[in-house]
Amino acid sequence: MSIQNNLELVRNKIIEAEKKSGRKEGSVKLMAVSKFHPSDAVIEAFNAGQLLFGENRVQEASVKFPPLIQAHPEISVHMIGQLQSNKVKKAIEYASCIQSVDRIDLLHEIEKQCTKINRKIKILFEVHTGEESKSGYTSEADLLDSIEKCAKGEFPHIIPQGFMTMAPFTDDEKLVRNSFITLRNLSEKIRPQFPSLSLTELSMGMSGDFEIAIEEGSTLVRVGTAIFGERDYSK
Ligand SMILES: *Cc1c(COP(=O)(O)O)cnc(C)c1O
Repeated sequence: MSIQNNLELVRNKIIEAEKKSGRKEGSVKLMAVSKFHPSDAVIEAFNAGQLLFGENRVQEASVKFPPLIQAHPEISVHMIGQLQSNKVKKAIEYASCIQSVDRIDLLHEIEKQCTKINRKIKILFEVHTGEESKSGYTSEADLLDSIEKCAKGEFPHIIPQGFMTMAPFTDDEKLVRNSFITLRNLSEKIRPQFPSLSLTELSMGMSGDFEIAIEEGSTLVRVGTAIFGERDYSK
C-alpha cells in the first residue's frame, strides 16, 4: 500500500467515526506522525494533500523539517514527544506547536527562547491519563497552576490551545476509552475557569485507537503507522 492509499483509508475512517458519533464532517484534524520516516515519505504525504505533521525528537525533526518547510511553507510540524528544556531553542525555530508541554519549567524556557527570536508558538498541555504511559502532567494542581500563569499573561509568546494525551498501550478498549474520557472531562471542567484562553483542542488518538478517540471528542488525531507503515527503530 502506498502512503497515498493509506492516507485515503485513514481519512475515510475519520469521516466514518465522525458520522458514527454525530459529529460534523471535518471536525477532526489529521496529523501524520513522521518520526523515523525519511523526508521522502513526508513529501509523498504532502503530495497526497497532507499538510500537518508530527515529530517526537528535536534532533530528527531539525534535520528533516526546516528544508521541507522552506520549500513548502504550507507544511507545519508539531512536536509531540517529551521535550528536554535544552532542545526548546531548536524546536521553536520551525515547530508551530508544542503538544507535549508537561511542566512549568518548559513554559518558562519556551517563553524565554520565543522572546529572543520574537515569535509566538502554540502549545497543548499534555496530561497523563493512562497507567502505562509516563508522559504528561500527573498532578491536576500543577496543570491548573500552569494554565493560570498563562491566563495571567506570564507567557505572552505562548498560545495555549488545549490538551493532549496518550492512551495506555493495551488491547483493553475500555481502558483506552477511559483515558480519552478522562481528558475530555478534564478539559470541560477546566475550560470555563479560563475564559480568556481558547482551550478547545483535544489531541488524542493514534493508529490503533483514533476511532475511539473521535467518538470521545478528539479534535486532532496523531497517526503514524497507519499512514507510513512500521517504524524501523534500528536506524
Ligand atoms: C508515535 C506517536 C504517535 C503515532 O503513533 P502510531 O501508533 O504510529 O500511530 C502519536 N502520538 C505520539 C505522542 C507518538 O509518540
